[in-house]
Amino acid sequence: MTQATATRPTSLKATDITIEVVYRGIFQKTLAQRITRGVVLAARQRGLPGTAFSRYGDSPERNGVPAKQFAVVAVNDIELEASMARYEPAIVDVTVAVDDTLVKGVESWAWYGRQPIWKPVRANGVVLVTSDKSPDEILAQTDKTDRPYTLGVIPGEASFAGLWVYKDDHTDWRVLGALSKVLPDWLPLDEVKAQVRTQTKDENAVASVQYGHDATTFRPVKAGEGTDAHEKLAFTKPGWTTMRTGVIVDARKPGERNPQFKRYATRTQRPVVNFDTCIKCTMCWLDCPDECFEVTGSGHFEVVYEACVGCGICAQVCPVKDCIVMVDELKFDSNKTVFPEWEKDRNTYNAWFEKTSGRSAAPPKGEKAAVAVGGDE
Ligand code: SF4
Ligand code: SF4
Repeated sequence: MTQATATRPTSLKATDITIEVVYRGIFQKTLAQRITRGVVLAARQRGLPGTAFSRYGDSPERNGVPAKQFAVVAVNDIELEASMARYEPAIVDVTVAVDDTLVKGVESWAWYGRQPIWKPVRANGVVLVTSDKSPDEILAQTDKTDRPYTLGVIPGEASFAGLWVYKDDHTDWRVLGALSKVLPDWLPLDEVKAQVRTQTKDENAVASVQYGHDATTFRPVKAGEGTDAHEKLAFTKPGWTTMRTGVIVDARKPGERNPQFKRYATRTQRPVVNFDTCIKCTMCWLDCPDECFEVTGSGHFEVVYEACVGCGICAQVCPVKDCIVMVDELKFDSNKTVFPEWEKDRNTYNAWFEKTSGRSAAPPKGEKAAVAVGGDE
């Protein structure tokens, strides 16, 4: 590595900065790469060395599973090398979540248990989230913090500008604009724009950087703010002396679930079922790749939300219009099953279904009320 020739800008108080981008595996991988690469390229505009990397890039990254990429920028090569000596940055200056449902906590690759989104952020650091919601709405679903930070919301829906067919929706440029606002000494707006102009030769991309800079809204978060409603995923890791040989998956009795198999951190949306219009055809139960449906005593199928990854297959295969509706994950506070609520009081449940899903709970027009294929109704 060549030694940096740049003199350290006098405005810089720290010797390096680390930005973490939390994204959904595969779907948003290219997006995360473009953001971390964009940070490094913009920093180089002013002679600051940096590097972008992913700690899980060579692992079998899976669809939708939270993963992380990093950008580190330093005042010189020595500081950069010192920073890179760590396997994975334990403390970061800024965390960027490119999907707002990630604020419910992240169980990323190589991490045991659910980690609050602010966990690696230093005191008085920044959590940036792309979302069409307000900072207060985001905070209502973010774990209670034990140190202060600033929450920034970059306007925009969850982006799936990833995969191998990259369709740029300018989330990358808006995020870079927001980063220039929170780190003006390291990523001055003009230099970020100059870099994006050189890279893209597209004035719309440059305008998106400016928009991200101007339109991002901020809210200071004090220690103790946030929710404690999310389930704590507490389990003890086996030590090397207690670990069993090889990979052993215990057999389960019929009807019994593996208590450790919880994949809800993967979810951006969750299925909500209209039990009144369900015809008990079994399609959801058969086609769910994660076996999330349980058969109830009445022959309906209820979702076990702890196991559901939110893939949406059940909603696609269900033959009844709006019987299973995929709903924004941030509308929910817990993974509690809702079927008992329907059994207790159908009218109240149906009113909740309509409010939550935005769809009518009445049978689809032109069709009679649900015809029970199985069960006894
Ligand atoms: S969205 Fe439906 S099909 Fe997909 S994991 Fe959840 S319950 Fe199963
Ligand atoms: S009608 Fe829909 S919800 Fe009911 S069993 Fe069939 S697929 Fe599942």
